[in-house]
Amino acid sequence: MNRPALSELAGRYDLVVIGGGITGAGVFREAVRSGARVLLVEAGDYASGTSSASSKLVHGGLRYLKSGQWRLTRESVRERQRLLREAPGLVAPLPFVMPIYADRPPGRWLMQIGLRLYDAMAGVRRSAWLGAEAALAREPTLRREQLRGAMLYEDAQTDDARLVLRLIVDAVAAGGTAINYTEARLRRDGAGVAGVTLRDVAGGGEREIGAAMVVNATGAWADRLDGAPPGAPKLRPLRGSHLLFSAQQLPLRQAVSWLHPRDGRPVFAYPWEGAILYGTTDLDHDDDLAQPRPTAAELAYLIEGLQAQFPDHPLQAHEALATYAGVRPVVAGGQADPSSESRESALWTAPGLVGITGGKLTTFRVTAREVLEAAARQRPSLRPASATPLFEAQAGDRLTARYGRAGAAAIGAAPEAERLPLGDTPYCLAELRWALRHEAVLHLDDLLLRRTRLGLVSPRGGEALYAPIGALCREVLGWDETRWLRECERYRTIWRTRHAPPPP
Ligand SMILES: Cc1cc2nc3c(=O)[nH]c(=O)nc-3n(C[C@H](O)[C@H](O)[C@H](O)COP(=O)(O)OP(=O)(O)OC[C@H]3O[C@@H](n4cnc5c(N)ncnc54)[C@H](O)[C@@H]3O)c2cc1C
Repeated sequence: MNRPALSELAGRYDLVVIGGGITGAGVFREAVRSGARVLLVEAGDYASGTSSASSKLVHGGLRYLKSGQWRLTRESVRERQRLLREAPGLVAPLPFVMPIYADRPPGRWLMQIGLRLYDAMAGVRRSAWLGAEAALAREPTLRREQLRGAMLYEDAQTDDARLVLRLIVDAVAAGGTAINYTEARLRRDGAGVAGVTLRDVAGGGEREIGAAMVVNATGAWADRLDGAPPGAPKLRPLRGSHLLFSAQQLPLRQAVSWLHPRDGRPVFAYPWEGAILYGTTDLDHDDDLAQPRPTAAELAYLIEGLQAQFPDHPLQAHEALATYAGVRPVVAGGQADPSSESRESALWTAPGLVGITGGKLTTFRVTAREVLEAAARQRPSLRPASATPLFEAQAGDRLTARYGRAGAAAIGAAPEAERLPLGDTPYCLAELRWALRHEAVLHLDDLLLRRTRLGLVSPRGGEALYAPIGALCREVLGWDETRWLRECERYRTIWRTRHAPPPP
């Protein structure tokens, strides 16, 4: 998949999807499969919004069960089961232990009933009670004092940015057109939305494109694209922050979830991409939507929760490999507590337009089909095709799951030196070479923060790897020294602003 120039786009499409996060990518894929001529437009890099900054869980969300969001939980756990079957390797089972203590919530019986229900909704039986010894044998890092045992249950994990990329790459291979670093504005005629005006953010230039229908899938930006049209929801952007530690710092064998001692909110830590991912918070975000970062107060809250659960590993925020924050596009429901706001998606329509926002990564396919059903009420030819498996039958190995069959074959055939892991990470140079050649990489941050997650799971954003990565960028993308230095500067600024741990 190469990034086309504006001049290479057609003058008119059946459908233009604005927003290259999981929602837009899902709609794009479904619409291409239905035979429509579709263009996907993303203002930054693919998945550069919320969809690279989630907790990376494919889950029903136990806390949504607690708050009575039954429909959402049921739909999500069913989608989780389907994604585990259809995207093996990219969506992988994640067994959790939830330790139960005599001196703090949650209690065993309430959790056991909740998890039975959670299993029943998914049509599986995974939850079980472990006594204290069995719990410690499974996860020796748990706090031992007052430990009664643990509930075992199962959710799933993914690499959110790679999931978005796979959907887009596959839809482009099936005949769709996608362009990143291109901002869209709506264009109207007397009858309603008639297309978009595109601005090339990278190279400059504008172009008008006609469209039978336009989908606004811009997540937290949804009410900015189109003002606040009648029927559109009012958004309440909620920030969630995370810390990444090395597996040596917090040697977890598996995922652990527990309730934060300060406010009883669920938090979790689990092994992800060779590191340990820990989160999260849920707070009103009044700042720049494109530059969320954890505040000092959030980091202090997260560290307090971590130390309460893993007292033998008294980590501080400044020791983290990296941090990141994302903004949930939550529909404002008037709740005082951000965590009580519903996580359901909201859909609205106007002549020529379907808007969609809110929801979860996990349910992207259900959302995509709802969007196309709504579009088909105005343009019947956009009705979604019958549901088929997400990816053509694929092996569940890591490379096929992330890069598709052709990518995995090319990476597997690379010289051995390019297949060695980079530092303590699961990535190798051959993967980077594939991404540079085939995945519309425009900037170094695309490569290090989203095509791979090297910038999040290596010390100091992967600084020690600049030399081989620079050589590869020069070779594959033809960057000269000036361009490489400019890209390093841009990447370092992004990393310092959004991902650097705080000073000691
Ligand atoms: C902290 C946190 C943790 C979460 N954890 C989970 C989880 O574990 N599991 C789960 O299922 N869900 C989770 N979610 C929810 C999930 O991440 C989001 O629902 C989902 O990523 C939203 O995707 P989106 O495509 O709607 O938005 P985005 O990913 O933000 O995509 C919207 C895109 O639109 C682009 N855009 C905006 N304006 C324009 C324009 N004018 N022209 C072109 N493009 C434009 C933006 O650049 C952006 O890339 C979490 C969310 C957060 C914040």
